[in-house]
Amino acid sequence: KIPFNGTKKEYHTQCPFCSVQCKMKLVEYENHDQKEYEVIPVNNPASEGRLCIKGRNAHQHVMAKDRITQPLLKVNHEFVPISWEKALHIIKSKFTKIKQGEGNHALGVYGGGSLTNEEAYLLGKFARVALQTKYIDYNGRFCMAAASSAAQKTFGIDRGLTNGLDEIVQARCIILAGTNIAECQPTLIPYFSKAKQRGAFIIAIDPRETETTALADLHLRIKPGTDAALANGILKIIVDNEMVNQQFIQERTNGYESLKEHLASVQLDQVEDITGISIDLIKQVAFKFGKAQTGMIFTARGVEQQIDGTLAVRNFINLLLVTGKIGRNGCGYGAITGQGNGQGGREHGQKADQLPGFRCIENPEHRAYIAKVWNIDEKNLPGKGVSAYEMMEKVHQGEITGLFIMGSNPVVSNPNVNFVEEGLKKLKFLVVVDMFLSETGRLADLILPTSSYLENEGTMTNLEGRVTLRKATKKPPRGVKHDWEILCEIARVLGKEKFFSFTSPEDIFNELRVASRGGKADYYGITYDRLTQSEGLFWPCRSLDDPGKARLFEDSFASIDGKAHIIPVLNEDKKEKTSDEFPLYLTTGRILKHYLTGVQTRRSPQLNRDNNESFLEIHPQTAEKFHIKDGAWVKLESRRGSATVRSKLTHRIRKDTVFVPIHWGDNQSINRVTSQALDPYCKIPGFKICAVNIIPIDDP
Ligand code: SF4
Repeated sequence: KIPFNGTKKEYHTQCPFCSVQCKMKLVEYENHDQKEYEVIPVNNPASEGRLCIKGRNAHQHVMAKDRITQPLLKVNHEFVPISWEKALHIIKSKFTKIKQGEGNHALGVYGGGSLTNEEAYLLGKFARVALQTKYIDYNGRFCMAAASSAAQKTFGIDRGLTNGLDEIVQARCIILAGTNIAECQPTLIPYFSKAKQRGAFIIAIDPRETETTALADLHLRIKPGTDAALANGILKIIVDNEMVNQQFIQERTNGYESLKEHLASVQLDQVEDITGISIDLIKQVAFKFGKAQTGMIFTARGVEQQIDGTLAVRNFINLLLVTGKIGRNGCGYGAITGQGNGQGGREHGQKADQLPGFRCIENPEHRAYIAKVWNIDEKNLPGKGVSAYEMMEKVHQGEITGLFIMGSNPVVSNPNVNFVEEGLKKLKFLVVVDMFLSETGRLADLILPTSSYLENEGTMTNLEGRVTLRKATKKPPRGVKHDWEILCEIARVLGKEKFFSFTSPEDIFNELRVASRGGKADYYGITYDRLTQSEGLFWPCRSLDDPGKARLFEDSFASIDGKAHIIPVLNEDKKEKTSDEFPLYLTTGRILKHYLTGVQTRRSPQLNRDNNESFLEIHPQTAEKFHIKDGAWVKLESRRGSATVRSKLTHRIRKDTVFVPIHWGDNQSINRVTSQALDPYCKIPGFKICAVNIIPIDDP
């Protein structure tokens, strides 16, 4: 510590690195131009005063020396700093030329799930009103799209958790399916530990042993990509042994009879074969969950990032519905959202098929309402675009020739990255808004510098659906603008100023409130004043005296008939198969010290210190078979491409599967290997399983 005789400033903020949105106080000590920081957790209902290592070091990337503080234009393969005025002039001329030559839909917009609600809302409006293109989507398509689509289809509404986090301790049986909470949302773990102390039985489903599975009473080390079949086995035993809640099924659901009919044909020995989980273990799960008075099920990317992700999630929700474990204390479903504003980011119109308030872009009433709020003719409101990866296909095909990327690093986060990179290189004009020169930024024609979470005010919605206000704590460095200012200024030079005359995030939020009014994600009753005076408000919040609602579906669901829709899910397996050439399964995921594509966390000395390169988790017996030693460099190959990472021998992984984290780019980018196959319902890519070969190499 610097001996302190200088100045001390305190900032209240929240961690940007996951959906818990833990609150903290950042104390800045300044003494003779030297600054030191202290991070103090702040009590709040979601994190209860806890912070994980990411939160404790979140500020470090903000102070990184390589922050971009001026627009950068690529000239002869080099970036040169230019003024904002010149940058805006170039954007105007390039975008106008593309629109005039190739039409409005030759432009695309690509957003992110870490943007504030205001920015996510404004980006959707920017695409449809300022650029008048239908092509907008965002990186949340790669995260929670399957859970979102399953919840919409089953309940009629998509809010990550159907209950507040405080109800977890009331559950007597908890299923954690494909979620590594201990590394991805560490401050949630005490909820589960406390539930366990109170007698809850916890079941974890994961091909890997993790800190999360260590907490469980039962760990099912499932074959990757077979979750839907496992849920069928559990459902069959519950139904055959009459552990269903007939009254709930009759009064609150429809579709049960077709599920029952389907389950009659499910063979448990087949389920055992498909999943690698013994019938005995499946029975244990079914009886524990079926007999428990209360129970909750949580899914995350392990189940969702599959080409049958939507159906797999629906099958886990079927378990809740047939046992009547939803809409009451200690009973419910939760998608453990990953991104910092993963919930809010998907509610306000960044998605290709969506308008603010979870409205549908193809519904004439919804279109008319939003056109009125935006003061445009409905005829000028573009229709449905395509999902994030499909946009990259449009780029590759030359249908989209100008792209605007904000809050995302698609060159690392998309599947089949070689293809994406090739496509982006063909663009006539690529603008990237970022704090740093990311892997995607390197391909840009123009980079616009943006502010950090410490500098940027706005609302965020956590995984429970709780909306809070994050105040700006510092001014951005000179030359840096906020995302919302950048959007308004581009709209201005494009002659759309009257639709973007916002003067603050609160100003934008007030329009968002009206745009969401009457929609499923209704924020109308939430104001900055109310948020300042509270610990956050749950949506839906329909009026200024509405307290919001933590527990959904107590009396009815949000579907048109008020019922939840049960459907049968078949044991279909369309995933990529292993072969002699590609004999192992690859699965991917996050690790404790990094966030998404690592652009921010790789710049934090503390977070990067022990995890500064990617790795391959491999079982020692598999390693021996492939002549791979611990710590050696390994090349992973798939039908799409290859990545080079260092091996880590561990008994924590199945023998038929290897694991690589997602946080690195260039030749360590595991998405050079993953498959672009998409779930047909929600268009999430099947990141969590593909067939690979591994080869030891001397030097990367
Ligand atoms: Fe909290 Fe998540 Fe940040 Fe960790 S990463 S401090 S759990 S918000």
